Amino acid sequence: MMKPETCDRCGKPGAKRLGEQWLCADCYFEGNSCCGEFGGNDRSLPIQVVHGDITRQEVDAIVNAANRTLLGGGGVDGAIHRAAGPRLLAACVPLGGCKTGEAKLTPGFRLPAKYVIHTVGPVWKGGGKSEADLLASCYKRCLEIARDHDEIQSIAFPCISTGVYHFPKEEAAEIAVKTVIEFLQRHGKQLDVTFCCFSDADAEWYRRILC
Ligand code: ADP
Repeated sequence: MMKPETCDRCGKPGAKRLGEQWLCADCYFEGNSCCGEFGGNDRSLPIQVVHGDITRQEVDAIVNAANRTLLGGGGVDGAIHRAAGPRLLAACVPLGGCKTGEAKLTPGFRLPAKYVIHTVGPVWKGGGKSEADLLASCYKRCLEIARDHDEIQSIAFPCISTGVYHFPKEEAAEIAVKTVIEFLQRHGKQLDVTFCCFSDADAEWYRRILC
């Protein structure tokens, strides 16, 4: 039988699966100090959420949710290759692919962004195949590349793995936010981070997490 998407606590519809539970946003955020859990309400951190197309973001680097070949694909990967033009594919070929959880850098060519950081998110297989760790690694490796590159002061992430790779969106958002906050708190370099969400629902979820 299909699980009705109602909240386990208050019974309201529209609940999301969060680990073992189904919760609506109100109950989730009432029971969780999101700020406490995700970085101690540190509003000084340069993090923003936008609802939009990552190919139009005027930042130093955008992140591509690529596949292991790095030779282009659908979703955000396809959009980035179309907007950047054919020189992006030519720059990806010699990179020889990329492992899941790793990241590699290319120029942005025709994009407003100077660079693209290509990362390969995990395919969701039910949660028992280190998917959460691999997703966190994607965010961490992209941030490390940005930190180590003089020309990258700002970076925009899409919601990695949450399209055809089917990582549950809410869990993915929590991992993304937690990993970014931990990284920014640990490393001195000023790096502006944008979570670029293609849907308003995704953006709203990030905003609630970052309340
Ligand atoms: P994955 O294979 O990692 O799941 P997808 O491209 O299928 O990658 O989806 C990842 C996320 O990127 C999804 O949340 C999808 O809605 C989003 N997305 C697709 N196109 C764009 C775009 N042009 N800008 C920003 N996000 C996008």
